[in-house]
Amino acid sequence: MVWEEPKNIVVARGPQGEFINILDDLDFTKWHRREGLKFINCVHDAHIVDRSGTRFLRHNPKTDEGERCAQERARRGPVAFFKPVLTAWIKSFLKTNGFPVLSPPRGTPRADVMTRSGTRKIAIRLGEC
Ligand SMILES: [Zn+2]
Repeated sequence: MVWEEPKNIVVARGPQGEFINILDDLDFTKWHRREGLKFINCVHDAHIVDRSGTRFLRHNPKTDEGERCAQERARRGPVAFFKPVLTAWIKSFLKTNGFPVLSPPRGTPRADVMTRSGTRKIAIRLGEC
């Protein structure tokens, strides 16, 4: 399983915290030209752009939020900045493939995501590589 730093951000949270992937045609059709999506990492409003079939999310161009996030990303580095996105992607991947997403027990800071396979609990830790 490979996760590549996104060139374009294509995942967001919906109003109920649900994971919205605008590359998915159902999600795209539902959310194109609508308000209510938030970036996962910064929680700013996210707007879908469809430019000649290339879809991506952008900040409201009438604010400086996009510029501030670009500076934050440069300061923290892409792995730290995108960790919430990657965490959401892993949880979605697990659910899609039939694995439960468990809350890490208190006092286990080493687990960012937990799941179970049979009777074994599996802790997933995200970090710099
Ligand atoms: Zn932002």
